[in-house]
Amino acid sequence: MALVEISNLSKTYQTGEIVISALKNVSLEIEAGSFVSIVGPSGSGKTTLLNLIGVLDQPSSGSIKVAGKEVSQLTNRQRAEFRGDHLGFVFQNFNLIPVLTVYENVEYPLIMVKNESAAKNRDLVRGLLDAVGVLDQQFKRPHQISGGQMQRVAVARALVTRPKLVIADEPTANLDHDTAFKIINLMKEMKDQWHTTFLFSTHDPKIIDEAEIIYTLEDGIIKSRQDRRSK
Ligand code: ADP
Ligand code: MG
Repeated sequence: MALVEISNLSKTYQTGEIVISALKNVSLEIEAGSFVSIVGPSGSGKTTLLNLIGVLDQPSSGSIKVAGKEVSQLTNRQRAEFRGDHLGFVFQNFNLIPVLTVYENVEYPLIMVKNESAAKNRDLVRGLLDAVGVLDQQFKRPHQISGGQMQRVAVARALVTRPKLVIADEPTANLDHDTAFKIINLMKEMKDQWHTTFLFSTHDPKIIDEAEIIYTLEDGIIKSRQDRRSK
């Protein structure tokens, strides 16, 4: 069974009289342990698709199964619970909490959803900060570190609840090319080390090559699926 199974997924947005078909009958599967990218120009439906897989939004029609559970019809509360149990997120703007230190930002999801002891949390948080290369920054606040370091912290934060799937919507859009490349490779390392599936979107052709599976979206339709593992 695939970790994500989508069939005939459609999403339309209505603003007044204007109806936009952001996704049209999309079907795809994401295997556990894979490193998958959704690629496409601005407006092609990447964020819409990731928000649906991330159980943040509901489709207009079609089915989405994540970790074996049909998530398209859940209530707001059930969706929030499902995200807390199974998913991690990395954002384009890093979305760190400015008043918290690097360490506290990574610890935060644990305090929200898990009931482990402080000592166990500390080992996990420090281990992750070390793995992403920012343990020496742990007492700083987000404004005192670089964009690349902020995104490293965000990757650690996304992994701290040990999610099955990490979803990253254009995680490198605010980074220079070298840093973007390093962040994508960091995610790949984390995927192997933490046995987490990663799904990220980008419109940057230079980093697409790093993905194992590439879905190309165009105007709400999956135009192609490339599997680079066999090469
Ligand atoms: P991408 O992330 O690839 O840029 P999006 O999923 O954000 O694409 O958008 C796909 C299409 O849906 C675009 O035409 C966009 O304008 C439209 N859209 C996205 N979100 C909304 C919304 N909340 N309300 C109305 N239209 C939206
Ligand atoms: Mg987008």
